[in-house]
Amino acid sequence: MPLQVLIAGAACGKTTEVLRSIRAELSTAELKKIWVLLPDSRQVTSLRTKLIGGGNLLGVSIGLFPDISKEILLKSDQHPILAPNMMLHRIVLEIVQVHSQQGTLGELEVIKDKPGFIQLLHQKFSELTQAGFTGEMPEITDPQLQVILGLFQTYQERLDQLQWMDPNQVVQLAATELAVNPRWVRDWDLVVVDGFERFTPPQLELICRLSESGVRVRVTLAGNDTHGRVIYRRAEESLEKLQSAIPSLEVIPLGDQPHLPTPILGIANNFLVDHPQKIEKQPDVRLLAAHSPLQEVREVLRSIKELVRIKHSFPGDCAILVPDEVQYPPLLQSVADEYGVPLHFPWGTPLQEVAQMRLIVDLLRLEVEDFPRRLFLDVLRSPYLNLSEIDFLPSDAARLERVSRYGPVVAGFENWKKVLRRLEEQVISPKQKRAGEEEDEDIYSLPTADTSRRLLDSMQKFASQLHPPLGQRNISFWVGWLWQLLREVGWLSGANTLQESLWFDRFSQVLREMCISDQALGQWTLDYAQFVSELEMVIQISTFHQKPDDKKVQVLRFLDARGSRFEHVAILGLAEGIFPKTQREDPFLPEDFRAAAGLELRLEQDQIGVFYQAITRANATLMLTRPYMSDKGEALEPSPYWMILAAAVEERDIEFVRSTTRRELNAAASLEELLFWSRLFNQPVQFDDLRLLEVSNTLKHQQEVLSARQAKMPSGEYEGGLAQLPTALEKYKRARTNWSASRLETYKSCPLRFWTQHALEVTEHRIPAVGTQSFQMGSILHQILEDVYRAAENPAEVSSVLNHLPEIAKRIFAAAPEIYQFEPTAYWQTQQQEWLLILEQTINGLASDEWVPVAFEQKFGLDDQPPLDIPLDFPGEYGRVVRLHGVIDRVDQNSQGEIRVIDYKTGMGHLDKKDLLEGTRLQLPLYALAARQALGFGEVTDGFYWSLNGKKESSLKLRNFQENDFKGPSGAIQIVIQHIEQILLGILAGDFRPQVPIGGCPSYCAARLWCWRFQPGRF
Ligand code: SF4
Repeated sequence: MPLQVLIAGAACGKTTEVLRSIRAELSTAELKKIWVLLPDSRQVTSLRTKLIGGGNLLGVSIGLFPDISKEILLKSDQHPILAPNMMLHRIVLEIVQVHSQQGTLGELEVIKDKPGFIQLLHQKFSELTQAGFTGEMPEITDPQLQVILGLFQTYQERLDQLQWMDPNQVVQLAATELAVNPRWVRDWDLVVVDGFERFTPPQLELICRLSESGVRVRVTLAGNDTHGRVIYRRAEESLEKLQSAIPSLEVIPLGDQPHLPTPILGIANNFLVDHPQKIEKQPDVRLLAAHSPLQEVREVLRSIKELVRIKHSFPGDCAILVPDEVQYPPLLQSVADEYGVPLHFPWGTPLQEVAQMRLIVDLLRLEVEDFPRRLFLDVLRSPYLNLSEIDFLPSDAARLERVSRYGPVVAGFENWKKVLRRLEEQVISPKQKRAGEEEDEDIYSLPTADTSRRLLDSMQKFASQLHPPLGQRNISFWVGWLWQLLREVGWLSGANTLQESLWFDRFSQVLREMCISDQALGQWTLDYAQFVSELEMVIQISTFHQKPDDKKVQVLRFLDARGSRFEHVAILGLAEGIFPKTQREDPFLPEDFRAAAGLELRLEQDQIGVFYQAITRANATLMLTRPYMSDKGEALEPSPYWMILAAAVEERDIEFVRSTTRRELNAAASLEELLFWSRLFNQPVQFDDLRLLEVSNTLKHQQEVLSARQAKMPSGEYEGGLAQLPTALEKYKRARTNWSASRLETYKSCPLRFWTQHALEVTEHRIPAVGTQSFQMGSILHQILEDVYRAAENPAEVSSVLNHLPEIAKRIFAAAPEIYQFEPTAYWQTQQQEWLLILEQTINGLASDEWVPVAFEQKFGLDDQPPLDIPLDFPGEYGRVVRLHGVIDRVDQNSQGEIRVIDYKTGMGHLDKKDLLEGTRLQLPLYALAARQALGFGEVTDGFYWSLNGKKESSLKLRNFQENDFKGPSGAIQIVIQHIEQILLGILAGDFRPQVPIGGCPSYCAARLWCWRFQPGRF
């Protein structure tokens, strides 16, 4: 019996004929042996369901090419042992190592350890084995290709040596075996090959061998286009190959009239013809252009939800076809979750996309990276661990976060221990507990001694659980150790459902395969760090599949839709660059090599044929969509295929959905959408349901806030315009209020920052970073300067001051990490030398024949020192006084008894006259006034800021100050008093509107975390 090829156009009944012929075979009394070969598992499930629906399936096997091959090999004396994936992975690692040692990796040597390179080799080897490539090729000159093929050859030799087989080779082996022993299949009645367009060389050979063995083989192929279009090119090539292998094959044309509803037939018949006819628009065909890919997805899923909910269609009868598994599936999943539409994706998901899997890697990395703060806290917070056995409470992550900021702790188990011990020794009294409140409930304060002790104890237990054995061990040992660890930390027992999940099965299988490879390939010895990075790579490259589920809406790539039919089909992504896809040559296996070796070409993927097949998959309705803008708002041209289809309908029949298109509220597919449309189109919804009413009111409120945020000028209650002083700031109503210069400056710089800091009292907890921060530097240098001047026998004499510098600096530097709470880095020693230089230059720079230092760190309004009282001239008010406190870094005196004040600053910015005029730097004149008025030092004739990093005086000098009639220190003081009056008036009027400071917002403004006016600045 010759090979029969059934040729028919797309949707012309090939699969129906297959079903009919199988049923005809089964209708006889004899027991038959029939095989049906299909391209993928989803189609296997679908065909099996259809056949079962029509009666018994006895004697019928339905599967993929490897399935039939395994049956043939089982009958023969060949018993190939198929290598598990992990074994292949290990062989790939091994051969890369060998080639690297031999120096034959060429330019690939530099990327040999990258997980991406190993993954790439797996893909290339898989393509080569599927194509039955044996390594016999004419001379190859491309050096990179030579390296890849050299690696592939070693890979095959190693497999042969071990007597294992790459599962992709099984089809080739079965074909070879059948050529020698055709008797294995003599009792078979029929083999049907359906749904393919292209065959790999081993598949083609197996078809021919089956036919030559006397089995009736029927292959269905698409073709026979009466319009002479190039939509069946691939199938025609496959037919030519079959004909050249078996010239006697019988071609049976099945007809060319697609079984499609009239409008879809019209679309299909007009596709790619010279003179397309306009078709009459029917609701079963929709062409829709949306303003973004997300909107396309929403339109498609809304339409499917309507089919399912209102027209009672079965979800499994609906399919969404997408160009690939990258761009649209995440959007589809997210909108489907919102709409409540069940979706099924047939392709594999990498294990690393599962949160529980990523947690394992994080857990193991804790030891490798020595308990870095963020990673450790994230692991503790994970809901997939149960650490109650070692007394960790669920809230301990928050508590340890507080500890890490206090410490500070950036990383290092020893550092965690040190800080917890410090807290254990300090007696921090527990806060007053409310009735019924547990110690556990106060998670925002530093832990008490008892809690610190418990945390330390738990951390030590956790660290010993995570601590791996030292040295190199084989992989089976590490797998066992890991399993034990996962049990101890509650990962395994945490969820009983784990046992049923597909990813868990895959993970268990990966671990088993690792152990098998240990036995089969010899001990795979690794140290702990190697084991962790190996496991990480395996989790990256291993995937798991959802079980085929025909009760859900099927999401398929265009290519996967061949051979399947659905009632309702939606096709997404008909924009230039999305589909057809831009085809690129494979840089590792070039086109000419692919053609010669029988691999699929990259540049001629027949996308037009794939697309034609896609539009003929629907039995009832077809929806085609395109985005006219990308997610980033860039214009997208329509796909050429869209243009062809659009030519067949009137322009008015193409739907356009713009962001402003008015929608009917009853078309909303989710509550979120309903409320969104209601607000957007100003169409009120009447809610009887109290919960919905509450949601609606919340949204209304949020809309008001959003409008305030979007206004150009800040105003109103959502923008700090409170109209009256809130209770938290009542004290400013009093006639006498206590201030510091920096508080005044804060209001002047940004009233909302003042409100955040002094009314809300928000203090941002610092995220620990290694090394010192600029504010720590300022405090340390201030302290050293104060101490050396005080210690000097004659502070006016530079050498006398400098003599004390090394010793005092050494003492303060040594205690600094503990006192100022920072974690020294390797740079700390060098930094001390740099700071010593700064201090020397400061002492030298401030030395003067005229001025003698007379006071350091001089307080006013603090520690029983008199404050500075400034009476204000408020309209209609008498007796209002601003009381100020502060610390003057240094006071100098000259021989005439005149005074100058000096304020040290770490940075160099904002020390100019204009900062005084704008009111954002008020300190110096206030200190001058305090020195004279509060502390009685005498007449102040000068003053300046000293920049430690800049090693120079500020350009603002009180002696030279002049602005209009305001001159010298007294002129500067008068300007400051005017600013203070404005500040007080603003506060009393409840004006806390945000104001971005000139140069941007400071990084230390706590409000920047939520302030919508935030503009990052350079401070
Ligand atoms: S982020 Fe900027 S505008 Fe907002 S409060 Fe802070 S300083 Fe003001």
